[in-house]
Amino acid sequence: MASGKSARVLFAKGDGIGAEVIGSSIAVIDSAVEAAYSGRRIVWEEVFLGDSAVEEFGKRLPEESLSKVRERGLLLKGPLRTPVGGGERSLNVALRMELDLYANIRPVRYFAGVDSPLKRPEAVDLVIMRENTDDLYTGIEWRHASREAAALRAFLKKDLGVVLPSDAGIGIKLISRFKTRRVARMAAAYALSNSRRSITIMHKGNIMKYTEGAFREWAYEAVLERLGTKAVTEEQLAERGAVKAPKGRILVNDRIADNMFQQLIAKPGSYDIILAPNLNGDYISDAAGALVGNIGVLGSAEIGDSAAMFEAVHGTAPKYAGRNVADPIGEIMAGAMMLEHLGWKEAAGTIRDAVDRVVKSGIVTQDLARGLVGVKTVGTKEFTRAVQKAIDS
Ligand code: NAP
Repeated sequence: MASGKSARVLFAKGDGIGAEVIGSSIAVIDSAVEAAYSGRRIVWEEVFLGDSAVEEFGKRLPEESLSKVRERGLLLKGPLRTPVGGGERSLNVALRMELDLYANIRPVRYFAGVDSPLKRPEAVDLVIMRENTDDLYTGIEWRHASREAAALRAFLKKDLGVVLPSDAGIGIKLISRFKTRRVARMAAAYALSNSRRSITIMHKGNIMKYTEGAFREWAYEAVLERLGTKAVTEEQLAERGAVKAPKGRILVNDRIADNMFQQLIAKPGSYDIILAPNLNGDYISDAAGALVGNIGVLGSAEIGDSAAMFEAVHGTAPKYAGRNVADPIGEIMAGAMMLEHLGWKEAAGTIRDAVDRVVKSGIVTQDLARGLVGVKTVGTKEFTRAVQKAIDS
């Protein structure tokens, strides 16, 4: 048993099923910390984001909450809803931008016993490292009939000889050297500290040469700089007629985005860390989640230089809100990642082991129960209690 100080952590319930899955995650984290350490505990404090913030402060992203997160630098967050189409900007994107959480880390691994479309789902043990602040998510876009779109069309025609159709909405894609290099350095540091085997840069550089192509170039540059002699590229291996990286070396390669999708499905075991720009990273994360059965079981970390936020990969699943049927595993896994970030690795390991054992024993929520026979379908609360019991046993 390690011993040490307590930590103060902020949490935000979010919308939809958020309150239920955050409640579950906090209960499991508290049990794991108590089991792993003597005299250590987490002091939780709620901040309001989303619908609950409207009740407290009259807006969905109040400065009061934002400044608390900035000051404390650590947040366990539930999902937040975003309207599709017009209306307000995504709160999730706004939070990432405000706190400069530039790396989104999503581990994807298989839980024994879960139904998967793959023949050998146990081969899936990946980490998606997604750039989180650049690309089309910077929100620079205009409706086709807006004054701004007309001004841009006029400028492009006059100064660059580019004629755009007047019925097209316009978005601007940005990929910068600074933002690419910093997330690539984080991927390399993550590979070193977590003994990972390879880093694959995912891009569509054959088509978007100066954005996605530049991502490939700058990511290679920064990853190879950071890994130094620990790195070996696919090109270097080919020169030696080898396929496998020598022991102790991290393979660095790249794949064009469409190929990356088919590779992920056909040969998931050949990939380890996938380093992707924002949009590719968003798509590939859900596809990877499907390989292990359900995105409801995935947790993620969003890390910057001065703040870190942990949350489930899934959204608010509004149809399940308040019905005690939501799967809390994603938010529990986010909690385990948060504990690791705090350096409380024993408690994180305790959580992962307990969830593994409960799912393997056939106790699951309705999402995982689909397609399985002989399992016991339980509610969110009952699943949470089963995990707490597994921690204590
Ligand atoms: P979603 O909320 O993740 O739900 C999509 C489907 O995934 C659900 O209908 C359900 O599938 C399944 N699912 C997801 N989480 C589950 C869980 N914990 N337990 C059981 N099943 C789960 O995605 P969405 O419907 O696209 O988005 C809804 C809202 O969430 C949107 O406003 C979106 O903007 C927001 N969102 C927020 C975040 C975030 O805060 N980080 C992330 C993604 C989306 P079945 O219908 O098959 O049962």
